[in-house]
Amino acid sequence: MSEVAWQECINPTCGARVDIQDQTFACPKCTGLMDISYQWKLIPVPRRMKAFARRWAQRNERLNFSGVWRFRELLKFAPEQDMVSLGEGQTILQNSRALADYVDIEPPNIFLQYEGLNPSGSFKDNGMAGAFTHARMVGAKTVACASTGNTSAAVAMFASAAGMQAVAFIGSGKIAYGKLAQALDYGARTIQIEGDFDVCMRRVQQVAERLGLYMMNSINPFRLEGQKAIMYRVLEGLNWQVPDWIVVPGGNLGNSSAFGKAFMELQKLKLIERVPRMAIINAAGADTLYRLVEQEKMKWNDGRCDPELEKKFFEQMDSERRSAKTLASAIEINRPVNLRKCLRALDVCSGLVRTVTDEEILDAKAMVGRSGLGCEPASAASVAGLRKLRAEAVIGKNERVVCILTGHALKDPNVTVDYHTEVNLGQIEKYQRVGVKRANLANRPVVVPDDLDKIIEAVGL
Ligand SMILES: *Cc1c(COP(=O)(O)O)cnc(C)c1O
Ligand SMILES: [Zn+2]
Repeated sequence: MSEVAWQECINPTCGARVDIQDQTFACPKCTGLMDISYQWKLIPVPRRMKAFARRWAQRNERLNFSGVWRFRELLKFAPEQDMVSLGEGQTILQNSRALADYVDIEPPNIFLQYEGLNPSGSFKDNGMAGAFTHARMVGAKTVACASTGNTSAAVAMFASAAGMQAVAFIGSGKIAYGKLAQALDYGARTIQIEGDFDVCMRRVQQVAERLGLYMMNSINPFRLEGQKAIMYRVLEGLNWQVPDWIVVPGGNLGNSSAFGKAFMELQKLKLIERVPRMAIINAAGADTLYRLVEQEKMKWNDGRCDPELEKKFFEQMDSERRSAKTLASAIEINRPVNLRKCLRALDVCSGLVRTVTDEEILDAKAMVGRSGLGCEPASAASVAGLRKLRAEAVIGKNERVVCILTGHALKDPNVTVDYHTEVNLGQIEKYQRVGVKRANLANRPVVVPDDLDKIIEAVGL
C-alpha cells in the first residue's frame, strides 16, 4: 500500500483502509463511503496558501494552468505525469453588487463563484480532473456514470480527451438539452432508462460491477478530491481570507462533501485559521437532506449516524412512492449517495439546510442573468437560498457570503426561454406540477410588424 495516499472508510469506528489503486469505492468492511487520506508529512505542502498563487505566473506549464492541479500538494494521490487536465477551473469569484439588493447583503460582501466557465460548463470538471487521473492510474478503458446531465457532459468530454469510452445512464425525458447535446457530441454511449436519476444511479452501479466499468459518479472519492479545489479558488479570490458563509445547491451532495473535506484539511494543516459556515440548499421538491437534518435532526455524531432513522426515512419514501420533482434537474435527487459525507461536512462547517421553491429558483436565476453572469436553474438555488436565509436573519447583512454558481446558463435553454416568453407559465403542465405560478422577472420579447416607426416605438427609448 502507498505510504503517501490511501483510501479510508469515512466512518472512524470502522476505519478500513484500501489501496489507492482499488476502484470499488465502497468500504470492504462496512460498505460505507470512502475518503482519500494522506500522510501529510511526506508531501511538500507549502506553509502558506499564497505560495499556490505564484504558480499562476507559470501557467504555460499545464498543471499550473489547471485550477485543480495548481493546488496539487493538497490532493497528491497520483504522480504528476498521470494528472489529467483539460484546463478546468479557470473560474472567477465575482463581487456582485448588482445582486446585493435582491439578497439583502451589504454590497461589497456578496460574491458569486462562477463554475459555468469550466470546459464543459459546470463545476463537475473539477471532479473529473481528479477521477480521470485515477482512472488513468488504474488503466481504465471504459468509464460509466448515471447523470442528471452535467456529469455525463463532463465524463463524455474528459473521456474523449483521455481516449476512453464513456457510458452515460440518463433518466428518460428529464435531461436538459444543452447537457444531452454534449454527451452525444463527445461520443458517449448514452443509455436512456425509463425512470428518474435515483433509478439510473442504482442501475449504473449494478452494470459497472457486472462489466467492470470504472465509476465516475460522486461515490468516486477521487472526484471529490478535485472538487476541493473550488474552495481553494474561493479563498484565492478573497486574497486568502475565509468568508463567513458558503452557500451551495445540494443534489447528490458531492460538492458540499468535498467543500467540508477541503476545510477540514486546511484547518488541520494550519493553512486557515477558521472554517466558514455552509448553507446547503435543496429544491423543495427534492428535499431529503432538509428533512433528515432540519426535521429529523440527523447528525454526523463522529460517524455514529443513526442507521435506523435513515432506514425508516427511505422506507417511508418508498411506501409513499415519493420521487424527486423540480425543474432544477441537476438537483432532482431524492437519494443522495454522499449523505453521510455531507453530514460530516455540515458538522465541520456548522452548516444548515434550507429549501427553496421552483418559482424562487427561477426568479433568482433571472436576477443572476441580469447581474452579469448567467446560470442554470439548480445553480440559482444558492442565490434563492441566501435570500431566504437573510429574510430569516440567519445570515447577517454584513457577513461575507459566497454563492456557488454550479453551471452555465446555456445548459438549460428551454426553461429560460419558457420563463421569459410564456405569458401563462403557471398553466403549462410542466410548471404546474412543480408549483410555479408566475415568472416574476420575465423579460418578454416584443413582437412587431416590419414597419420602421412601429419598430422604433417598440425599442422604446
Ligand atoms: C451536479 C450539480 C449540482 C449538484 O451537486 P451535488 O454535488 O450532486 O450536490 C448542482 N448544480 C449543478 C449545475 C450540477 O451540475
Ligand atoms: Zn467501513
